[in-house]
Amino acid sequence: MRLTRYFLPILKETPAEAAIASHRLMLRAGMIRQAASGIYSWLPLGFKVLKRLEQIVHEEQQRAGHIPLLMPTLQPADLWRESGRYDDYGQEMLRIRDRHDRDMLYGPTNEELITDIFRSSVRSYKDLPLTLYHIQWKFRDEVRPRFGVMRGREFYMKDGYNFDLTKEDALHAYNRHLVSYLRTYERMGIQAIPMRADSGPIGGEDTHEFLMLADTGESEVFYDSAVTELSFGDRMIDYDDVAQCQGILEEFTSRYARTDETHDAAEFAKVPAERQRQARGIEVGQIFYFGTKYSQAMNAVVNGPDGAPTPVHMGSHGIGVSRLVGALIEANHDDNGIIWPEGVAPFKVGLVNLKQGDSAADTACEGLYQGLAARGLDPLYDDREERAGAKFATMDLVGCPWRITVGPRGLAAGTVELTSRRTGESEELSPEAALARCAQIYAGV
Ligand code: ATP
Ligand code: MG
Repeated sequence: MRLTRYFLPILKETPAEAAIASHRLMLRAGMIRQAASGIYSWLPLGFKVLKRLEQIVHEEQQRAGHIPLLMPTLQPADLWRESGRYDDYGQEMLRIRDRHDRDMLYGPTNEELITDIFRSSVRSYKDLPLTLYHIQWKFRDEVRPRFGVMRGREFYMKDGYNFDLTKEDALHAYNRHLVSYLRTYERMGIQAIPMRADSGPIGGEDTHEFLMLADTGESEVFYDSAVTELSFGDRMIDYDDVAQCQGILEEFTSRYARTDETHDAAEFAKVPAERQRQARGIEVGQIFYFGTKYSQAMNAVVNGPDGAPTPVHMGSHGIGVSRLVGALIEANHDDNGIIWPEGVAPFKVGLVNLKQGDSAADTACEGLYQGLAARGLDPLYDDREERAGAKFATMDLVGCPWRITVGPRGLAAGTVELTSRRTGESEELSPEAALARCAQIYAGV
């Protein structure tokens, strides 16, 4: 993308309403614009990151064998009356009446709707196991929307639902979700720690929240520092392998790690004192096993192997896709702006022309721009007639992980400069070598 043809409405001033870095930077970098309290338009740069995260979530869910579909944002109230949650959910639910006086709602989650889809089409245990998911906007009329997209009222969530014949199978689905979530967060470049949590209004027996540690997080967490040394890495996973998935769950959840809702001081005291940590975290996902709660209330049964109607065992599993955009920035920024991890960068390489209009610089930039694009390295080319300082400030704010700087002086010596946004370190390279280096950096991403 050439900056002169893009829509990147950068703010010069620091917006006063933003209390935390990610919110401030998303506004300053022209990623979002507030439409109403807790409701945002996603401007091109923000939209690009959101779509990139969505893509990673889709890839990892489908790798785990989960099937995408799309349910609507608006739902009929009657389904929620069946489960009993229409009254229970309270003021967070946005209730709407259509012109025929039918009660509707903007979905805060989708257990009822998916259970209705399931019961209308699945009859036999032979069609199980089944996990369906979608990535769709949700609405929760939060009392205090804040921190930009981190606690919005309208937000983008991946929510998946498993249907299984037995509790044992449903627990395997739970483990599969845990494993796929660990992979998802790691690919995005963040560490999210599964912590024992409270099930809240969804109701259930087993649940873990995934928390990314951050001083600005809204949850208070207690953990054994040994959990922060675990990493998923590039191990191969067979998602049908029950023992392997169970092993990973045990590896990642056997150490003490809980939110304040389930914190147990006596248990925590057993962690060696030098490893006890109390900190804050951002909830970026949660998994639940809730048994037959919805299938019984809504009559979602299959014919079991003996022919008897059996309510299915279910769970639901969510990732806060739009919240993750903010969380990623909380974990990856400095005073000058955002520092995207390579896996999620909206533009992989920034290209700065120090002397727009100089024919050598323009020609070299054009060649690099085409070369980067041809290698799939989505470049952002600052081709404006601007001072070098302003161009660097824009690139630093927007956060491209790598920047190639092209100027007449370097070109006279046959070089351009490749700079890491994270470390600030630069190398002088020929334009060809710079292209090859960028391709190599992104080869495994
Ligand atoms: P929270 O405790 O933060 O209110 P929750 O536990 O009510 O969240 P879940 O029902 O578990 O939320 O939803 C799954 C995920 O959706 C959460 O882990 C979080 O990442 C995201 N999420 C929930 N509420 C919001 C919100 N208001 N704005 C942005 N993302 C949200
Ligand atoms: Mg939650």
